[in-house]
Amino acid sequence: MIADNLLKIEQEIQDSCALVHRDPKEVTLVAVTKSVDSATAEKLIEQGVKNCAENRVDKLLQKKQDLVNYPDVKWHLIGNLQRRKVKLIINEIDCFHALDSLKLAEEIQKRATKPLDCFVEVNVSGEASKHGFSPEELVPFIESLVALSKIKVVGLMTMAPKEASAKQIRKVFGTLKELRDLVHSKGFSHAPCTELSMGMSQDFQLAIEEGATFIRVGTALFKDEEEQ
Ligand SMILES: *Cc1c(COP(=O)(O)O)cnc(C)c1O
Repeated sequence: MIADNLLKIEQEIQDSCALVHRDPKEVTLVAVTKSVDSATAEKLIEQGVKNCAENRVDKLLQKKQDLVNYPDVKWHLIGNLQRRKVKLIINEIDCFHALDSLKLAEEIQKRATKPLDCFVEVNVSGEASKHGFSPEELVPFIESLVALSKIKVVGLMTMAPKEASAKQIRKVFGTLKELRDLVHSKGFSHAPCTELSMGMSQDFQLAIEEGATFIRVGTALFKDEEEQ
């Protein structure tokens, strides 16, 4: 069943790319394994998935340990990270998708042993419940990272609002792309900012049409499997 889900999603990625004349190779599927156990995640890896994500530090560490026989898998932390947990996780991951404060960046700087690919989280929709910088805060924040050698801003990340229309969701994703282009155009060496992490099970097709280069998909991959 996982194999069928994966095939279907890969086809949908290709179809969305074709619609807007993009190369599917530009889009990385990040499999969000937070709702399944390690054995289920392993089935997906056996199908060739190379990028896995968790939103909690303890669960990521556990999965990574359980799946140590798959050293090619890249691990992405996609959830909010508390400063006191940075030292536990920061040298265990390949990519962090939710950089949302200068204090967190400074703690990463202190604890990381090598530069880490990070996405800065942007709260495009302005919902009070969401983490991330407002569009106005974004460029000053990225400028403030210039001396932090362990932080490489590879791109921007956002979450679409829940219960929104396709039109509203597109607008959020389109705005993130404009912000990405703005930051990229500044030519910061610490912030090449070429990537866009946006789109989940419900909206990854819209996200791809709007320029996503990393989509974070959970539920759609594990439909009809046991949930943990
Ligand atoms: C859970 C989660 C996802 C995946 O959501 P699905 O709807 O299960 O595809 C993506 N991004 C973040 C930040 C998440 O927490």
